[in-house]
Amino acid sequence: MAKPMVTAAAKLALENAWDGLLPIDPREIANGILVSGRADDYYPIHVEAIPDLEYSGEAFFDDARQRFVCRFKSSEYPTRNNFTIAHELGHIILGHVNKGERPRRDTRVRMFSNDSKEVDANQFAAELLMPKKEILTAVDRYDSLDKVARIFQVSSTAMSYRLKNLGLLSVEFA
Ligand SMILES: [Zn+2]
Repeated sequence: MAKPMVTAAAKLALENAWDGLLPIDPREIANGILVSGRADDYYPIHVEAIPDLEYSGEAFFDDARQRFVCRFKSSEYPTRNNFTIAHELGHIILGHVNKGERPRRDTRVRMFSNDSKEVDANQFAAELLMPKKEILTAVDRYDSLDKVARIFQVSSTAMSYRLKNLGLLSVEFA
């Protein structure tokens, strides 16, 4: 079940930082917004590409530089990187990482998880990279899932989950 709060957070990020062009670059979204801390303060998000990162991605608050950091393993596929960055952005924007806390690490960003924060970060990533309105337009125009996935620069797997969640694809996943 999609959570309305997560949908609202993704919408707000897009409204503030998206230039309206596809594919949506989660790095640009990160650069275009500030995130509130626990008090009335706002911090930027710094995105770092690290080829040999031990995880697919991680998110944390950098106390020395007073900013949120989102790191991703840049040697993975660009489509995977996009989803990972958007997922880590979700952890930051949804308040899953805070000052003084250990980094939140994702060994591998998976579509399925029992951890509610992982589920929420995935929902955020899907709705950030594949907004409903743009998906409906693309699905109307192209009948190939791979083509639609390429336009949004996500994996076919990520796109098929999104289409299924929007009721546009009636396939069961085992
Ligand atoms: Zn995660």
